[in-house]
Amino acid sequence: MKDSKLRIVMISSECAPYAKTGGLADVVGALPKILRQRGHDVRVIIPKYSLIDYNKYRLQPFLGTMGVWMGNGQEWCTVHFADNEGVPVYFIESNKYFDRPGLYHDASYNDYQDNPRRFGFLTRAALQLCRDTSFAPDIVHVHDWQSALGPAYLKIWHWNDQILGRAASLLTIHNLAYQGVYSASHYEYLGLQWGNFTANKFEDHGRINFLKGGIQYADMVNTVSPTYANETRTPETGYGLAMYLTDRGDDYIGILNGVDYAVWNPAVDQRLPANYTSHDLSGKGVCKEELQRRFGLVEDPNVPVFGVVSRLAAQKGLDLLANGVEGILNSMVAQFVILGSGDPDLQTYFSRLPSRYPGRVGSFIGYNEDLAHLIEAGSDFFIMPSIYEPCGLNQIYSLKYGTLPVVRATGGLEDTVQQYNEATGEGTGFKFILPTPGALADTIGWAVSTYFDRKPHLQRMIQTAMAQDYSWERSAAGYETAYERALRNQQK
Ligand code: ADP
Repeated sequence: MKDSKLRIVMISSECAPYAKTGGLADVVGALPKILRQRGHDVRVIIPKYSLIDYNKYRLQPFLGTMGVWMGNGQEWCTVHFADNEGVPVYFIESNKYFDRPGLYHDASYNDYQDNPRRFGFLTRAALQLCRDTSFAPDIVHVHDWQSALGPAYLKIWHWNDQILGRAASLLTIHNLAYQGVYSASHYEYLGLQWGNFTANKFEDHGRINFLKGGIQYADMVNTVSPTYANETRTPETGYGLAMYLTDRGDDYIGILNGVDYAVWNPAVDQRLPANYTSHDLSGKGVCKEELQRRFGLVEDPNVPVFGVVSRLAAQKGLDLLANGVEGILNSMVAQFVILGSGDPDLQTYFSRLPSRYPGRVGSFIGYNEDLAHLIEAGSDFFIMPSIYEPCGLNQIYSLKYGTLPVVRATGGLEDTVQQYNEATGEGTGFKFILPTPGALADTIGWAVSTYFDRKPHLQRMIQTAMAQDYSWERSAAGYETAYERALRNQQK
């Protein structure tokens, strides 16, 4: 590598705290800060969605107008700027594309029909911004299908460009199930040239597949845990792209996400009624009491509380909980708290459950960060029965909060949770393999029996869990290695 300090531009559809629907935003919010601390010049480019509050986040005008060439002519946008704790963030404003209530869909979960154009435009605009500000990046780091065209644009349009011609690209896949597959009628607009509309690049059963194109064109590809990287090479979890990922050989790797311990740490968490550390857990008891009160549960410190904070999507396996929880409630001493939104059937189910098990189940349907923190801190156990999980953040937060995860052994859950060993008391959580309500219920039962019958083991596990370190430092080193390899591949 020419020198160890890199100029990096990240293009993303989400970045915490500005616009977030899931883990992608947390990653794009946190990783650049750490990379900057390590000496790299990192800049982030995201859309200026109308929900991003101009005053709250101290946005400033940056470029009054910027022309962006799309396949059928020039379009215009405005650029704004904010400083995210030292990281420059640029916001692409286009009323046509981003002035609407949702990020990806309307209130009824209908995807915006022009999503391929919206995010194709974002990506082209981001590269244009590099040119207009003479920021010549060493690395263009794109995330998920929304910016996956970036590597292709570099190679098709900018290979000979003074500013962008030497940039290498890294594509990070946060979730392979979302590939950005759209009608070929958008292809012309995206400006990708029909010669590239082939089965090994963008074409997918007559449609355009953004992620597939990204996998082909990026100099390096990674996903967010080693186990998920292996699973996605198999037909079951590869969602039609296993072959293309496998073809990338060593250029497709898994780098575990880190978490932002400035935000997710019970010792400093400002959203909690009390803070605590592994040396003094009394504050956790205060959080539990508050959690029970807020959710109308019986305020008993000696009942194990199981928490859930999740998108209610099929991926998260919460139908396993919906199908098993009543059996558990009828046979065990336990309380449940569920926070989430998404699937309408699951929303209905979990919103009605508290009235059927008063004092034992609480739920909140919606998105609420304060409650997410309170559940992490006040629960004894945290449930993540995911069918697949690229990395997962909540189980990592749970470890730090001494809230032992009950998880299915898949993807990042497998990589971050160590199975409880009943003989020794080692481990940090409880894992099961079969994606069935019975397997989940048995494992919750195992946690309940550990809570009541093996208290010393429980205490030891809490200490071990809270000592785990999944800070971004480690992940950032992994990304530096990926960037170096991307640069080498680009120069080949
Ligand atoms: P994914 O990105 O697949 O949704 P992760 O576990 O990687 O899952 O990240 C989820 C993030 O979104 C976490 O920060 C979690 O706290 C947050 N989150 C999910 N649902 C909610 C909700 N209903 N309210 C508040 N935060 C939520």
